[in-house]
Amino acid sequence: MTTPAFPVATIVGYPRIGRRRELKKAVEAYWAGKSTLAELEETASGLRQATRERLAELGLGRTDASIPETFSFYDQVLDVTAAVGAVPPRFAGFEGLDLYFTLARGIGDIAPLEMTKWFDTNYHYLVPEIGPDTAFSLSSRRIIDQFTQARAGGFVTRPAIVGPVTYLLLSKAADGAPEGFDPLDRLEDILPVYAELLAELAAAGAPWVQLDEPGLVTDNISVEPGVVSAAVTRAYEVLAGGQRPAIFVTSPFGDLRENFPVLAATGVEAIHVDLVHGGVPAAAPGLATKTLVGGVIDGHNIWAADLGAKFEQLEALTELGASAVSAATATSLQHVPHDTADEKWEDAELDANLHAWLAFADQKVVEVVTLSRGLTSGRGAIEDEITASQQALASRAAAAGVRVDAIRARTAALTEADFSRGDYDERAAAQAAKLGLPELPTTTIGSFPQTVEIRRARAAHARGELATEAYEAEMRAEIKRVIELQESIGLDVLVHGEAERNDMVQYFAELLDGFAVTTNGWVQSYGSRCTRPSILWGDVSRPEPMTVRWATYAQSLTPKPVKGMLTGPVTIMAWSFVRDDIPLGETANQLGLALRDEVNDLEAAGIGIIQVDEPALRELLPLRREDQPAYLDWSVGSFRLSTAGVRPETQIHTHLCYSEFGEVIGAIDGLDADVTSIEAARSRMEIVPELAAAGYARGVGPGVYDIHSPRVPSVDEVSELVALAAQGVPGNLLWINPDCGLKTRGYAETVPSLENLVAATRAVRNRE
Ligand code: GLN
Ligand code: ZN
Repeated sequence: MTTPAFPVATIVGYPRIGRRRELKKAVEAYWAGKSTLAELEETASGLRQATRERLAELGLGRTDASIPETFSFYDQVLDVTAAVGAVPPRFAGFEGLDLYFTLARGIGDIAPLEMTKWFDTNYHYLVPEIGPDTAFSLSSRRIIDQFTQARAGGFVTRPAIVGPVTYLLLSKAADGAPEGFDPLDRLEDILPVYAELLAELAAAGAPWVQLDEPGLVTDNISVEPGVVSAAVTRAYEVLAGGQRPAIFVTSPFGDLRENFPVLAATGVEAIHVDLVHGGVPAAAPGLATKTLVGGVIDGHNIWAADLGAKFEQLEALTELGASAVSAATATSLQHVPHDTADEKWEDAELDANLHAWLAFADQKVVEVVTLSRGLTSGRGAIEDEITASQQALASRAAAAGVRVDAIRARTAALTEADFSRGDYDERAAAQAAKLGLPELPTTTIGSFPQTVEIRRARAAHARGELATEAYEAEMRAEIKRVIELQESIGLDVLVHGEAERNDMVQYFAELLDGFAVTTNGWVQSYGSRCTRPSILWGDVSRPEPMTVRWATYAQSLTPKPVKGMLTGPVTIMAWSFVRDDIPLGETANQLGLALRDEVNDLEAAGIGIIQVDEPALRELLPLRREDQPAYLDWSVGSFRLSTAGVRPETQIHTHLCYSEFGEVIGAIDGLDADVTSIEAARSRMEIVPELAAAGYARGVGPGVYDIHSPRVPSVDEVSELVALAAQGVPGNLLWINPDCGLKTRGYAETVPSLENLVAATRAVRNRE
């Protein structure tokens, strides 16, 4: 086989939800029965074609495989599950896209696949369930069809799929698999299906295929590194041996380290290295026949690059003796919004600054294309662009607000005592005396359904059509409704419901100094769900209280305790685009102090329980073990900083999303919260024995109601989970609550679910 040239400029992937979230709307309309399958397919294919056209307009080649096909109806890992037919038996009887969406969302009693974080991003993938008997066969032609469709539309693109090693590393052992079974044990069985897919792609005329192998850059996996390297060798020996397009393996999110020479020794034709999160590798045997693709442009953050520095990295790659070097993004651009041209900031100075400082997906494509021109024609050809990029960085460094001396002085003066609350047992006794809660206290995680009326009012207020006074009156009316509802359901610790919050991070970003928010900067979080990360560009401070009047209003309506509700520093950082010009720990302390002021104000206003949510605590956890202690130190520290200013009798709660906490159990302990609610329903309380084994001895609320699905859990189901939880958590420490906030749910399922939760709790209380 003669290898076609690898394109000199490419990207690992592109946002697929659509500039105006067209895919979200189309998919949700289909789910709601408001459109047909044919209409959904048509919208999707139109979007794919529009993406190709846009990328070509930005400078990627139309017919040289530089445009990757990274569309997905829901998730790229689920796409592989569908392609290789790894469907758990409970989904028997479903087919095509309906099977696909049922795997993602469940239906009736059929639980969906579990969802978990994609590396250190805020994107979630669906976890494949692989057992010893999972049958693999090529079961979907979508990947091939999309290539063929592109061709019909005048493009020769590059199909992209998650590679076999990463796919299995991200899988979990199916229920009933024997002890010691690891999905990677099935490598030999899945490879023929990948090989068949590759052969089909070759037959369809694809010159290149992209296999994404981010699993090779992380230590957060169940098997030893040596096992991974052996799997890489075997997988690419098999795949390179067959009928196939040229193979391009990507390694986003980190450094390939020991896997770089391993990949270089295989028969693949192009290897991607992430030079944003990793370094330039050492030369390795086998490179002479391969293209090295330098992932120099950050696909996970939104700052415009220093093109001079990026070009130097590419030049360093050319020293390694590869047959060619190309420019690319470090990761898929699915983690950044489409286009800064879609934004306009009200403040003229901020607007001008941010347009100069930021690069969203489209700007990043242009950066890659510019660098590739430097590779083909020499640095001189892009000197003007390099100079302009460096001037923008200099203006950013010097701009007002980027560095505020008073804020820096406050973080510099912090001492150990600012991070410590004192003895837990004393606190617990003071809290028990003050709060007088029943055994197994019931509560929710904070938000109640965001109804059409709430959204409409917010949109009208944002457009200036609804006066602030009228808007706030509506929000107060909503809070009153939610308080009354919780009282009638019989919950013990109430919440105000977060009606006034557009988003748990953006709400605070709008009220804190140092942040900007976007209008169209949507990024896919999972499936059809998108968030608009805020942009943290300057030093952070809190000009005035943010939540106190809402919390005190809610508390004024009820004798039961109302929890104050804040988003924690780590989560604000994880779900924003953060600065790359100062250490993350400094930003974390600035946020910690801003939130500490708010926590103290809530306490002073009579709020006795304050929850500081840290659902993203694990999200920023570095992928390599040696980097983790430093991260946990500043992240846990910033949470403690935000909560350590209160009296012992004030109860601090935190909430953490997701179930797999194994590696951060020490950190949960380190947060020193009095009560921690955790996602646990889908994993059937997996976390509980882990916490017990770790000797965790503060309040815990493992979720007993899976809010990610519209299903209403029965009283029996909830009781079963409560009983499971009670096996590992002493009665006086166990809290009963849903897995997460209810904002994405409707009242139709929320009310009966919470009623069942309370009924199940009461039944357990009465039994004793
Ligand atoms: N308090 C938030 C809510 O209930 C927590 C959400 C989250 O963890 N993602 O919506
Ligand atoms: Zn949550």
